[in-house]
Amino acid sequence: MVQLLAENGLLTRAELARRIGVSRAAVSMTVTRLIGDGLVVESTEAAARDQSVLGVPLTLNPLAGGAVGVDFAHQSLRVVIADLAHKVLAEDSRELALDHDAREAMDLAAALVGELLGRSGLQPSGVLGVGVGVPGAVDHRSGRPTPSSISPSWVGLDVAGEFSERVGMPVLVDNNANLGALAEVVWGAARDFTDVIYVKVGPGVGGGIVLGGQLWRGATGMSGELGHMTVDETGPMCRCGNRGCLEVYVGLWAQLGALRPVLGGRLDQAELLALAQGGDRRCRRVLADVGTTLGKALANVCNIINPEAIVLGGEFAPAFDLVSGPVREAINTFALHLAATSVEVVPSQLGERAEALGGVALVFHEGVGLATPADRAVRAAAK
Ligand SMILES: [Zn+2]
Repeated sequence: MVQLLAENGLLTRAELARRIGVSRAAVSMTVTRLIGDGLVVESTEAAARDQSVLGVPLTLNPLAGGAVGVDFAHQSLRVVIADLAHKVLAEDSRELALDHDAREAMDLAAALVGELLGRSGLQPSGVLGVGVGVPGAVDHRSGRPTPSSISPSWVGLDVAGEFSERVGMPVLVDNNANLGALAEVVWGAARDFTDVIYVKVGPGVGGGIVLGGQLWRGATGMSGELGHMTVDETGPMCRCGNRGCLEVYVGLWAQLGALRPVLGGRLDQAELLALAQGGDRRCRRVLADVGTTLGKALANVCNIINPEAIVLGGEFAPAFDLVSGPVREAINTFALHLAATSVEVVPSQLGERAEALGGVALVFHEGVGLATPADRAVRAAAK
């Protein structure tokens, strides 16, 4: 029950009973005990906010602690601090150079974590863990970013060990697209779904898979690497060493490369989007082509995973209106009928915040360690 509240933030007694599969009376008895222990509280604030919910929502006691999420993106880092009731207490971001050094980025992030903890009022001893997202696939057995990472200085680093030394807290590490997926399920566009594919299109193309409400990593953490699906084995070289991966056709560099001959070399993503939204036929065509190619790849994924929802995120999310039509059409054309008709294509609701929020969600999903008040007492005694 504590784990369910940690993962979901707010749940009523009736929802807890349904999810655990026990009677309402049994849930009520346990809830009364957990409220008595100070681990669970009734959230009158949430009840007042959403009067459509029947019953008083319960949360973990926000005073009992919280978690930190850190996202290292290609050119920025973001830190989010949230309490156990999933309320964001503090959040900020910093720019990173395109060719940033990973260790310097970790120094900067650790300083920001310290600053935001001070602002949030959460004591460092109350932080259950730090969930860190890194740019690129992570070997889940070692926690180290793999050579296909889009930022080379991260490759092979013991990120959990090194960042934990800097912040003095337990650290969990994952690919930031996986964290984006988790965040959209916990906080964002996929809240009503449990089987979800999250796609992040930017300079790199990444993805995350959530099945049954839990992140699906596969044997070594490589699941969701949609960007390296082979589209044409004789196509252009990809940074992973293969030819013709999806990323070389739909990633940001491909979009800008297609427009360079007609719009010049200084075009950037913001301009591309502004021009497309202003009606420029060339930019709209490039985004539509990207949607079609991406949709074909996603149709294959739909046939294998049969998700309920596909969330389009990353720097791509603001272009949703221009790409979602072609994506939808390609899925309808290329996926099996029942797989195509059962999937919704939705825009990310969390935008550039998704991955850092996912870091917080990762701690609540996998690193909580507060199953009972006794466990917490043991943890506190160990400090
Ligand atoms: Zn590749």
